[in-house]
Amino acid sequence: MTSDVEAMKPSSVSEESRSDDELRLLERDYRSLHDKAQNLITERVSLESDINKLKKRTARLDEEIRMLKSPPLIIGHVQDVLNDESAIVRSSNGTVFQVAVNQRLGISRLKPGTRVALNQDTLAVTDVLHEAWDPLVSGAELIEAPNIEYSHIGGLDEQIEKLREAIELPLERPDLFRKVGIEPPKGVLLVGPPGCGKTMIAKAVASQTNATFIRMVGSELAQKYIGEGGRMVRELFSLARDKAPAIIFLDEIDAIGAKRLDAATSGDREVQRTLMQLLAELDGFDALESVKIIAATNRPDILDDALLRPGRFDRIVEIPMPDESARKSILSIHVGRMATTRISMPRIVEATNGFTGADLKATCVEAGMAAIRDKRSKVRQADFTQAIQIVAKKRDSGPGSNSSEALYV
Ligand code: ATP
Repeated sequence: MTSDVEAMKPSSVSEESRSDDELRLLERDYRSLHDKAQNLITERVSLESDINKLKKRTARLDEEIRMLKSPPLIIGHVQDVLNDESAIVRSSNGTVFQVAVNQRLGISRLKPGTRVALNQDTLAVTDVLHEAWDPLVSGAELIEAPNIEYSHIGGLDEQIEKLREAIELPLERPDLFRKVGIEPPKGVLLVGPPGCGKTMIAKAVASQTNATFIRMVGSELAQKYIGEGGRMVRELFSLARDKAPAIIFLDEIDAIGAKRLDAATSGDREVQRTLMQLLAELDGFDALESVKIIAATNRPDILDDALLRPGRFDRIVEIPMPDESARKSILSIHVGRMATTRISMPRIVEATNGFTGADLKATCVEAGMAAIRDKRSKVRQADFTQAIQIVAKKRDSGPGSNSSEALYV
């Protein structure tokens, strides 16, 4: 019996080891299948998210196609709301209609004066337009009391003096001009490369004289549609009169004030009409009124002579690229507000040769960011060195990095 048991032992051992092997094989297969299943699940999730993205894109494109196919709407203003379903509107050509109102809009959104879109056939109110859609409102930056002081501007003392004389004095002491019997300039043209402080200096004059600052960019006035540009110029001046004392800052005036050559397209002709309207407005207001205009351009060479005649922009003030001492004062202004360790200002001034005021400010911000990233509360010289390199690189690769400055450098 014992011998029987002993005889069976090797075979049972080998069976056991075989079943161990099989188990291991099964386990390996299981693991590889499990991995495969996991991979497939991940793939499915990623495909599902792709499908969702594509579905959203299709919906957006469908919506775009629908918008492109939809008929044009007429713009009008609500005059009165009669009941939940109808209102009286004045369409853009001045005719007054009683029309239906789309129930989806919610009648409470309609008030006398609301800008609305009207269906072309039935003139039913189909949409409520935000007031900011008005090109004048969306294009102009209006600051009742800008908070820039002359002391925030570095290296432009001479220019500030000229502007104070041409704008600030007539606004504050018109009696002096009346007494002497001369007319002060109506507007001043600031010329110089971008980022050197043209907007800042105009804001500072407005702040000093407690005038409202209204900034309009020339390209916003260069409209494609006949009559739009002229209307905007008219509205701009009437807005300034309403808010007087006011300073209109017309940035990039070259967009509408370029020399009048033979206009090739109707778009060019419209830009010319806008310029004519601007000239008419400039001639139409009294130099002693409390509205002043400061225009800015970095292409004075292409401006129409008509703009530069006496009584229009007859004062030209150049805002140049900051030289060494200007860079020093601009940097002192910006660095003065920062917490720094001992730094060598002359080294920073030297390394920033060719930087505009905006570049100098960007350098300070970049250096400050490096300190914050490093969890330090003080900015070091090395931060400035690194920041100068970053800003210089951005300048060189940025759009129009040298085109607009070519005239001045
Ligand atoms: P653009 O023609 O592009 O409008 P700009 O000449 O009007 O440019 P600003 O908008 O006045 O330039 O300047 C941009 C920023 O650069 C300012 O907000 C300011 O922080 C900084 N800066 C520029 N020039 C000076 C300066 N002379 N002193 C102090 N900061 C300046």
